[in-house]
Amino acid sequence: MGNAGYIKRINVLTIFEMIHKRGPISRKELVELTQYSGATVTNHVKRLLAAGLVSESKEDGSTGGGRKQSLLSVVPNSAYMVAVGLSPQRLSIVLLNLAREITAKKTVQVTTKDYRVILEQIQRELEETLTGAQLTRQQVMGIGVAVPGIIDQKKGIIEYSPSFGWMSLPITEMLSERFGIPVLLENEALASAFGHLEKAPRDTEHLVYVGIDERIGCGMVFRGDQLYGRAGELGHIVVDRDGLECSCGRRGCWETVASEKALLAAVNSALGTELSREDLLALSREKGLPVEPLEKVGCSIGMGLADVANILSPDVLVVGGGILDFRAHIEYALRESFFQNVLPALRNRVTIEFSKLNDSACVQGLAAVVYERFLDRLIAEVLE
Ligand SMILES: [Zn+2]
Repeated sequence: MGNAGYIKRINVLTIFEMIHKRGPISRKELVELTQYSGATVTNHVKRLLAAGLVSESKEDGSTGGGRKQSLLSVVPNSAYMVAVGLSPQRLSIVLLNLAREITAKKTVQVTTKDYRVILEQIQRELEETLTGAQLTRQQVMGIGVAVPGIIDQKKGIIEYSPSFGWMSLPITEMLSERFGIPVLLENEALASAFGHLEKAPRDTEHLVYVGIDERIGCGMVFRGDQLYGRAGELGHIVVDRDGLECSCGRRGCWETVASEKALLAAVNSALGTELSREDLLALSREKGLPVEPLEKVGCSIGMGLADVANILSPDVLVVGGGILDFRAHIEYALRESFFQNVLPALRNRVTIEFSKLNDSACVQGLAAVVYERFLDRLIAEVLE
């Protein structure tokens, strides 16, 4: 593409994004905001209208003696994104439109760690979702896949996922070849962190999300014009060299004392039982649970969170994941040990929050990444 073509694409992209963020918006306001000429705005808006990505409606103008002016808005159902969330227990497929409204959602159980079987399952469910929504490949901007573990986002490879025992798996290539739709890969906790940052107050510049269920994931994000962050395998910080064996093959990782798995083991050992997670939740509603082992786990979580605060000093530290089902049992000990272990100067600077968004944070964060990465391609199609 020549220089002129490149500039044209950037201009259309800027105008579309402005309509998306500020719409309903008039052409005049677009000229003011973008500093483009009236002719440039008019031409590019015409392209977006013809492509069906934008619509216009006549509304009473606030100026010009009551003359009606045209206001432009993005057509929510003109393009879609798919968010695929994969955990050792569940596979969820969520279809979202340009306004990031969920238009279809499906969750199925995962009962194996064999990647060939899981990949087949993802492909089948994706196929069903797209067919069910009667979407053409062109209407889908992209598919985002979130998994726990270390990933190479540029290459679309799962480098290492302790939860699944997978190494060097080129998952995006496998999926994009099958569907002819661009696919991106993201760490699950990082996607959740993006989702939380979007909903956080504007003055939150740095947010760390710690997702605790069978494992512990961590996403660190910064506010900016573009999505920017990193995922870390926080659960595998060694806190006790002689501790229990971890899923990563080493001993004494934070995950062995601060995850849901640790919580289950601690309570079962105190009761002399082998209850499942669901059994424990039922028991907690009926009779309550032994206090001491739960406090110990809450304390271990709080200590680790204090380390995170000491190292990264984020504005907000969000705790999410299945562990929230046990929140009432662990919160006091968690906050107490956080307070004791965080550096005094950071005590009032780092806020600990419990996620109110749950799974939707990952879905919305993933959709935001898909939108940012593949919007360019959608716009390029308009210009063809
Ligand atoms: Zn480990």
